[in-house]
Amino acid sequence: MTEAAEPLWLVAANVVLWRRYGELGQELRPGTKAFRGGAKVYVIDTYPGGANEQLTAVGHGRRTNRWITIDTGTRHLHTFRAQLVYAPAVLRRCGTRIRTRAEAEELAELLERIAHDERRTRHAAPHPGHCRCHACLPLSPG
Ligand SMILES: [Zn+2]
Repeated sequence: MTEAAEPLWLVAANVVLWRRYGELGQELRPGTKAFRGGAKVYVIDTYPGGANEQLTAVGHGRRTNRWITIDTGTRHLHTFRAQLVYAPAVLRRCGTRIRTRAEAEELAELLERIAHDERRTRHAAPHPGHCRCHACLPLSPG
């Protein structure tokens, strides 16, 4: 029997139900191209050099439901939180340098702030009428 890999502290998040799409963000698309809205993903890498506007996420793909690793906009995720991860499929793909719960919590806070700001500033035009994006959903702080 092979020994299970050591669990790691990672940042988990959920995919937004709807995202703004198009140059001026006047269209809405459900989830992302790779993930269903609401899907749970794990952040396994970030791009500090690019102000963390993009990150690498692992989750179940929208079409095949198999684990996939893909870069996505930080603004397409919400409710970032630290989580101790045991799933071998995630640990195998992991490129993160996080070591402790505190580091994961710090990164989760940072990414939440970036996602929040990006949803507000990414598109030059105002949100379309009856917008359902994460920033416009009722009761949504993010
Ligand atoms: Zn909106």
